[in-house]
Amino acid sequence: MQDYWQNYIDGAFVDGGAGRIDVLDPATSEVLAQQALANAADVDRAVQAAKRVHQSGALTDMRPIERGRIVQAIGRWLLDHLDEIARDLSLEQGKPLWEAEKEVRGAALYFEYYGNQASTVEGRSIPLGSGYFDWTENEPFGVSAQIIPWNYPVEMTARGLAAALTTGNACVIKSPELTPLTNTYYARAAEAVGLPNGTVNVLCGYGHEAGAALSAHPDVRQIVFTGSVPTGIAIATAAAQNLVPCVLELGGKSAAIVHEDADLEAFEDDIRWGIYFNAGQVCSAMSRIVVHKSRKDELIERAEKVAKSLSVGPGIERTESGLNMGSMVSEAQRDRAAGMVRTAEQAGARIVTGGRPLNRPGAFLEPTVLDNVTPDMEIAQQEVFGPVLSVLSFENDNDAIEIANSTDFGLVGGVFTKDLNRATRVARKIRAGQVFVNEWFAGGVETPFGGFGKSGYGREKGREALWNYVQTKNIAVKLGD
Ligand code: NAD
Repeated sequence: MQDYWQNYIDGAFVDGGAGRIDVLDPATSEVLAQQALANAADVDRAVQAAKRVHQSGALTDMRPIERGRIVQAIGRWLLDHLDEIARDLSLEQGKPLWEAEKEVRGAALYFEYYGNQASTVEGRSIPLGSGYFDWTENEPFGVSAQIIPWNYPVEMTARGLAAALTTGNACVIKSPELTPLTNTYYARAAEAVGLPNGTVNVLCGYGHEAGAALSAHPDVRQIVFTGSVPTGIAIATAAAQNLVPCVLELGGKSAAIVHEDADLEAFEDDIRWGIYFNAGQVCSAMSRIVVHKSRKDELIERAEKVAKSLSVGPGIERTESGLNMGSMVSEAQRDRAAGMVRTAEQAGARIVTGGRPLNRPGAFLEPTVLDNVTPDMEIAQQEVFGPVLSVLSFENDNDAIEIANSTDFGLVGGVFTKDLNRATRVARKIRAGQVFVNEWFAGGVETPFGGFGKSGYGREKGREALWNYVQTKNIAVKLGD
């Protein structure tokens, strides 16, 4: 691996005004590489470069179908470099190599999907009688700032960047300080597909320094953020000072309601993916199961079997899709998750399996299942962001809905039952932006995603996301005789 990675501003790879940061391999806790760290002056240069591109009309004057073609080319470039990106992603983030490959493929899909829609962002004509001609256009905001989390650094950047470029915005990406390396590939992709210098700027810096400077910058016109609630509030507060819109995707404490008629054998797969994919560091993780009391013992048995079946170890050695899991992103995140499990145990939860760090270097945590969790416990209310499943039980459908809705979050939810009428009724009552029926994570880049409540606002994915990157302009023409 390259030992020093630079930031990318206005078409040039540059050092950072705040020096360098060590990027650790979470599977060994040893230094993997160094990354340039941006300061506020670097952020300003990047924003000015993006603003110049916007004002030049280089993106907005282009026929959208051509802009879309360039966006799609970024996706193809990612696929052409899949092996190196996935390797570096697995090393810096800790996820299994095959999960990293899946993430890069998923990232490429955003460029394919949105690039293909560039010419569909149409306005409409509004009848005002014979004396007028009136129509709307959807204009890009200009400079889109994108602040990226460390759990899916490649895919989260793709999600915002693809939609922003498709609609003609220039972007400043603030990569996460724990996993900044793979975002550099977007700089290389932007060069390779021939985007004008300054269209895509990628810089790593601390949240309180570069992140804060970016979200408060007066020339930033729109902000996209995925991460924690406190940081989301800080960013929304900074954005409010400039009256700038945000898309905030702030995680969750999402519940699967498992009814007495659910297919629990099939549900084992949902447990495997729902809470142990990416070692549980997924905003839409199935971190709670709310199961009918008549099926709880069987469910616990099956969850224990799934957790124990996972082979946990260095992601880079886990090349094949299957029953395996990598490290968490950092020892600090691992210790936080293990601490929350201990607190849950003290509050009366039972550790069915897991809960401890592995006895080896690196940020590993055993896949964990907790029984006897009650809605008032911290573990049922707060995001663990680790491989920790909490099981709660219910007696009737109303209880189940009340428990599922008993957190401040509202990102996703799930209903598992053979009865489609019941599934539909319950799904409509779950307070969340997306509900999965009989398959956790059902959906894709095509389906809108985002939170209710403290899970944030705005939507990513799907057609809905495009409308976050444009503002409507109405043009009314008074016609002469
Ligand atoms: P964070 O929200 O603090 O960091 C996410 C991004 O925001 C990083 O790029 C960071 O540099 C930036 N940032 C931090 N402070 C900022 C500020 N004041 N202004 C602008 N940008 C700022 O997340 P974290 O501290 O790395 O993780 C803490 C918890 O957040 C996790 O345990 C997890 O619960 C949650 N989280 C959720 C997601 C998600 O996908 N929803 C992703 C990462 C973390």
